[in-house]
Amino acid sequence: LLADDGTLRPTIFAEMSALAQATGAINLGQGFPDEDGPAEVLEAAREAIASGVNQYSPGRGHARLREAIARHQRRFYGLEVDPETEVLVTAGATEALTATILALTESGDEVVTLEPYYDSYAATIALAGARHVTVPLHAPDFTVDHEELRVAVTDRTRLILINTPHNPTGAVLDRATLELVVELAHRHDAIIVTDEVYEHITFGVPHTPISALPGAPERTITISSGGKTFNTTGWKIGWLTAPAALVDRVLAVKQFLTYVNGAPFQPAIGVGLDLPDSYFTGLATTLQRRAAVLSAGLAAAGLEVHPTRGSYFVLADATPLGHPDAVEFCRRLPVEAGVVAIPVSAFVTPRRRPEYASLVRFAFCKRDEVLTDAVGRLASLR
Ligand code: PMP
Ligand code: GLN
Repeated sequence: LLADDGTLRPTIFAEMSALAQATGAINLGQGFPDEDGPAEVLEAAREAIASGVNQYSPGRGHARLREAIARHQRRFYGLEVDPETEVLVTAGATEALTATILALTESGDEVVTLEPYYDSYAATIALAGARHVTVPLHAPDFTVDHEELRVAVTDRTRLILINTPHNPTGAVLDRATLELVVELAHRHDAIIVTDEVYEHITFGVPHTPISALPGAPERTITISSGGKTFNTTGWKIGWLTAPAALVDRVLAVKQFLTYVNGAPFQPAIGVGLDLPDSYFTGLATTLQRRAAVLSAGLAAAGLEVHPTRGSYFVLADATPLGHPDAVEFCRRLPVEAGVVAIPVSAFVTPRRRPEYASLVRFAFCKRDEVLTDAVGRLASLR
């Protein structure tokens, strides 16, 4: 987790955001929206502060939020979860992931993830002393080879950690792949952990939570967060839903990580989860438009663009521009075009870097005028 000389290595997101600030470039690196979310949610947080919701919340989370999470799971997916025992509010999805991995793995256990993967997975698996086994997503559509998934999951596997919609590829896992995950989890007695922070951000394809599949609920921990759904990434209000016994095991660790966080933001995210369906479809429509604007701009600039079906991100290949090395390309991009992006190699294990070496991740969760400006700048690359 530290550099070879023992110094702190900042995450790729911190590094690239600092580069954007230093160069004045448009930051399409770190995935965060540049505008506020729904007024009702912001107002609910102000009201919560004004009415004194400023001390520690209950260990499992504010009741208003836990109940809203249960209603949300029923409304969108037909899933029944008990807000008293089957919901845990966390400091972002990040803490839900960390507490889950620390709680459920012993040193030497294997955790299977897709690859590329969100950067905290590898770091936390290392902190737990577990072994990270990866299943590659293959271009152009970033699909899972079912044979590779079968080989990766064994009796040593404790957790199968999936992520859909997927950061950084924009892939949405299909039902057959989800069914295979459930089948393998049963066969090898593994627990499924699913990171669904982009659950409301898909483009013309449905999001299927794996816990909606037969055989899944009893061995699945579903993780999400208010950050992406309500443009509140800085609030760090996340949660998980799972069978009560699994929630208890994760809580045993979580209570010593942060104990609790973000008291007034919790009921405010509850208000967000209770917003009408039109809010959620509007979010997806807006981001789909933005994905299209950026994808078209990248293509016009001469990059090879991979289709994105969800999340905040699109991948592109700069090889046609004469830049087969994405790390090198991302270093030059702020200087030569005034745009910051992230090389996909930041999300893969060293041995798998060659397969992803030429891919660049661009975030489109930005205002239309910012994307138009970025597209204009990228046109200068040709
Ligand atoms: N998982 C994925 C796939 C993400 O992209 C992110 C954040 N960007 C997180 C987890 C972390 O979410 P949070 O900010 O709620 O901790
Ligand atoms: N999830 C965001 C991304 O992928 C960044 C989160 C972070 O900065 N750790 O860009």
